Amino acid sequence: MELALRGIGVSPGIAIGPALLFDVDRYDVPHFAISDTALELARFNVAVEKTRIYLNNIYRSVTAQLGKKHADIFEAHLMLLDDVMIRQEVSERIEAEKINVEYILNSLTQRYVKVLQAVDEPLIQERTADLLDVLDRIMRNLLDAEKKNLQALEKPQIILAHEIAPSDTASIDLKHTLGLVLDTGSATSHAAILARALGIPAVMGIKHASSCVEPDSTVVLDGVSGVVIFNPTPETVARFREEQERYRLRHESLRRTAEHGPAHTQDGKTVPCYANIELPLGIQSAINAQAQGIGLYRTEFLFLNRDTLPDEEEQYDAYRRAAESFSPAPVTLRTIDIGGDKLVSHLNISREDNPQLGWRAVRFCLERPDIFKVQLRAMLRASAHGNVQIMFPMISSVEELRRVKVLVDAVRKELIEEEKPFDEALKCGIMIEVPSAVALARALARECDFFSIGTNDLIQYSLAVDRVNEKIAHLYDPAHPAVVRMLDWTCRAAHLEKIPCSICGEMAGDPMYTELLIGLGFTSLSMTPIALQAVRAAMSRVDSAEARKLAQITREMSTSQEIRALLVDRMNAALQKDSQSAGTGQAHLPGVHT
Ligand code: PEP
Ligand code: MG
Repeated sequence: MELALRGIGVSPGIAIGPALLFDVDRYDVPHFAISDTALELARFNVAVEKTRIYLNNIYRSVTAQLGKKHADIFEAHLMLLDDVMIRQEVSERIEAEKINVEYILNSLTQRYVKVLQAVDEPLIQERTADLLDVLDRIMRNLLDAEKKNLQALEKPQIILAHEIAPSDTASIDLKHTLGLVLDTGSATSHAAILARALGIPAVMGIKHASSCVEPDSTVVLDGVSGVVIFNPTPETVARFREEQERYRLRHESLRRTAEHGPAHTQDGKTVPCYANIELPLGIQSAINAQAQGIGLYRTEFLFLNRDTLPDEEEQYDAYRRAAESFSPAPVTLRTIDIGGDKLVSHLNISREDNPQLGWRAVRFCLERPDIFKVQLRAMLRASAHGNVQIMFPMISSVEELRRVKVLVDAVRKELIEEEKPFDEALKCGIMIEVPSAVALARALARECDFFSIGTNDLIQYSLAVDRVNEKIAHLYDPAHPAVVRMLDWTCRAAHLEKIPCSICGEMAGDPMYTELLIGLGFTSLSMTPIALQAVRAAMSRVDSAEARKLAQITREMSTSQEIRALLVDRMNAALQKDSQSAGTGQAHLPGVHT
């Protein structure tokens, strides 16, 4: 029977195809007595060697696709494979208990699962999870139960899973992955950010999605509305195929209208559209999408999925690559925003009761100047190779900004003494993503070179809605009048102090808000590369005087319902006009979900 569920649409697009249930089918572990202990040990060794071949292959392919640092996790797995204690315990128990190796391996696994559940120490948790991953691969080789591997799917499929590990997401088979449906997560989880960066339609937060279908049965997903339909009727499939085709046509039409030159409004006002990137891989996506620069480089992703911190040279190389790729266009490097939902295991940040309100971003950096200064040195040095700007996340007071600037000045002096070149005119700006920063916007604007509003966090903090909790995702609302007013205040403060004000939260990538954001006075917009075409096209239909009027009306409104209705009407009217002139006859565009 057809079953429609609604989750959180986190990456736009419509996917229709057979389900691949990832890692939901567990195996039965046999238990039997053995007499030939040497043979049993040999079986274990063969399974270990098969696992080594598999890990070496995956290591090589991830290195080729995403770079060595993203493959480090598999190097760590290869080292765990040679863990002497595990080998010793397995061989001793085979000798002593004379039972099959699968059973012994399973009991070891159970023991580590208990460790994982009991320990509240991220470093140990991560190591244990890695070890379990390796034990699982050995077990599957023993049982010949090939673990489903997202790297090489047999055919185009929609992946359904409870959750996906970073290692699986990073190595996903892009050619055959039609879509992604996860039980957990939200628009700002690691998997969602990567799905958007890779252009895979995705829905998250569908509880028990993986238990709703049989393998290979048809699934339909809409990555904008968040609707997922299991076992659709032929009529539903036909309807979504039409929708999919409309989506494709719409994108083609957008590509035609938004293909050339910098983004500007109908009346010729230029509002540059930049890309947000997370990985070095994103540089190419941003270039392909004709980004006019990088408005947000989430550099903390260079610190994830690995066992050591990237040193100054490695960071310098990464930042320099981005700077050179876009020079003379700007590249805004955000200093690490770790903490919150982005934990770096080897930094020993212990779990907190309220991680989003905790030791995060600049708060962490100010207490770890050893780490922060290395990053600042790398960023400043990269500025010699292009138009680099540095941006600080989570600033919540003027004192905090001053403390950061003292460190930047110290690093500048060091580099001058060492005769290392950097751009002396380099600009330092801040993200406005905490309500206190909105209240202090004028004072902050006097002491920095630019603002960029991080609406993902600003919305979570001002509306008190945890951005990664799927249960309250419906309360997460960029059209909330309080949010619109905060955007307005911040932009005005920036203009009064004559500094530019950008926006780099997901809201900037939703064409429904483009006219409003231009009307409020944002000087640039920065978004995930896949959103650039749609936003540029929306911008090309905007008249800036009309946009200012729209902003004027909107900031007086007191409910999000009114604001949303007005914005939807304006966008649909503009699309109608646009489609009539393009001759596609389409009036509805699925935008990027915010
Ligand atoms: C934001 O908070 O809007 C933002 C762009 O930063 P991040 O999503 O990385 O927290
Ligand atoms: Mg943020």
